[in-house]
Amino acid sequence: MHKPLIIANWKMNPTTLKEAEHLFGSIEKEARKVKDAEVVICPPFVWLVSLVAFARSGLSPKDERVAFGGQDCFWEEKGAYTSQVSPLMLKNLGCQYVIIGHSDRRKYFEESNELVNRKIKTALNARIRPILCVGEEVEDEMSLIVGEQLEKDLFGIPEAKIREIVIVYEPVWAISANNGIDCSSDETMKAGLFIRKTLTKLYNRSIAEKVKIIYGGSVTSQNAADYIKGAAMNGLLIGNASLNATEFVKIIEKVVK
Ligand code: PEP
Repeated sequence: MHKPLIIANWKMNPTTLKEAEHLFGSIEKEARKVKDAEVVICPPFVWLVSLVAFARSGLSPKDERVAFGGQDCFWEEKGAYTSQVSPLMLKNLGCQYVIIGHSDRRKYFEESNELVNRKIKTALNARIRPILCVGEEVEDEMSLIVGEQLEKDLFGIPEAKIREIVIVYEPVWAISANNGIDCSSDETMKAGLFIRKTLTKLYNRSIAEKVKIIYGGSVTSQNAADYIKGAAMNGLLIGNASLNATEFVKIIEKVVK
């Protein structure tokens, strides 16, 4: 049994380093007491360097309980790509994960499945684990959209690497920034089974069973356990609720109980 993987996506928040350190410190202090969950914080790029240093101060590497992830990355390792951050840079900074294909990127930056696929390959080459977000915008189109995203986003990724990827089922209509509608645990379970079935088709059953599939979209301390226990998800991606340390820590505690 895997430990649940609980990932905080802070998106474009908070707006000062002081607030970021305060939020991180409050989460870290409590999260390190919880041994049965793996916690990953994905802050904005500008705060990452300071937060990694902040997290390491006074700790030996084996003490580190909270891991870091980037919220996106570029599809090349280095070069003349003004403003971009490569997965290799994130890896060298101490990040273990990077979110790729978030619906905000797909929507506001018109990120295609082909670009998502290139980013995943570059991240894997840099030995950083991609957190691949897939999900439909319209409630009834789960299998159509998620099936296409998985086929294209994972194109050419060898069997040996697929276990490194965490897949997030994140129905866009259930993300709190949109309308606050919850995705039921039945719907989530159905999507999780569909993702595993698609992975079986693309690879094979034993590989498909080893991939972590997590849920994201309006998760709170009230519904978190339903997605882990009721819908058999391997973890959660949390946006809004991860900006409140007390609520985020409550979510972690609920899923390990
Ligand atoms: C997200 O956008 O990644 C997310 C999970 O957001 P929220 O939890 O706010 O719905």
